[in-house]
Amino acid sequence: MPIEEILITAERIVRIVVTVLAAYFVALWIATIWWTFRDIRSRTNDILLQIAATLLVTVFSLPGLVIYFILRPPRTLAELYEESLAEEAMLQEIQVHTACPQCKQHAEPDFIFCPWCQTRLKRLCPGCERPLLLRWRNCPYCGQAAVPGAATLPAAEGPAPLGPGANRGGQPLARASTSSRRS
Ligand SMILES: [Zn+2]
Ligand SMILES: [Zn+2]
Repeated sequence: MPIEEILITAERIVRIVVTVLAAYFVALWIATIWWTFRDIRSRTNDILLQIAATLLVTVFSLPGLVIYFILRPPRTLAELYEESLAEEAMLQEIQVHTACPQCKQHAEPDFIFCPWCQTRLKRLCPGCERPLLLRWRNCPYCGQAAVPGAATLPAAEGPAPLGPGANRGGQPLARASTSSRRS
């Protein structure tokens, strides 16, 4: 009699455990199907592909999910969209930098004149003859004044002019010392 009772309670426990496990696996199965459906929808607009991926996970469950992970499109539609936006912005920036402002035709960065409409694109540095943008006031390579009126920047080896008074006193001395060293 006590053995029978023990058997009955054991059977009950096993039944409960099996029911809970079954419910868990059914919930897991439904969750994977739902997750796959949402994931494939964020990755493709192709309805056939969406149905195929969802069916794959519905029929094969977790092994199907592994296959889906291997075969799914690597990027979501949102990521693809963002990438295309960034690419477009980059292209536009390149075009702005290498296009004639007048006729919008392509121009190489070292063009001085537009070959299509003869618009002046750059000016040559009077010092080192490198092409400079029209809006630059000084040559970035040698410091020459590119615009009339702009002060020529001091060369790298010379002392920076502090002011009209400090300049006059300091420079001849420095020059005298360098010339005496050379001779
Ligand atoms: Zn042009
Ligand atoms: Zn220059």
